Amino acid sequence: MEKTEYHIKTWYGSTGRIELHGRFWHLAGLGNVEIPHPPVVNLLIRQGLPRDAQRELSFRHEFGHLQTLPLAIMATVLLLKRAKQTGRLKWSQGVWLWAEHHALWEMMAESYVMWRLSGRYKRLYGGRLHAGLVLFWLGTAVLVARGFFRRTLKNN
Ligand SMILES: [Zn+2]
Repeated sequence: MEKTEYHIKTWYGSTGRIELHGRFWHLAGLGNVEIPHPPVVNLLIRQGLPRDAQRELSFRHEFGHLQTLPLAIMATVLLLKRAKQTGRLKWSQGVWLWAEHHALWEMMAESYVMWRLSGRYKRLYGGRLHAGLVLFWLGTAVLVARGFFRRTLKNN
């Protein structure tokens, strides 16, 4: 399988590592710490794009994870605080918390790609409604909403 490794400096001064393996398996990390990254995101949102565009967008997405790491850490604190308020700090809720947090981080990483590529992002997707992108944004939004607003939704 084709593998490319990049070392790139983040805005907060750390050097990140990004690996692209084949078409859909990618990972990002700082030092020896790797960000677990389900391949489902790349499978879903890069379908139908030219191979070069898939790799470029995947690279930028992984870099987006590194660039938004401080925000992701803040989100962890907020989600844990929210979970504590709603009495969800049980082990059985841990998987949900992880999924909700990761969904938010996926949104941040992909937003970073959209911001960096600006109008080119839209052109790469042909300016059409891409089914994978719709599923991605809906799925992540539902998970994030669950994490932050569950108690509010339950009380209404
Ligand atoms: Zn991701």
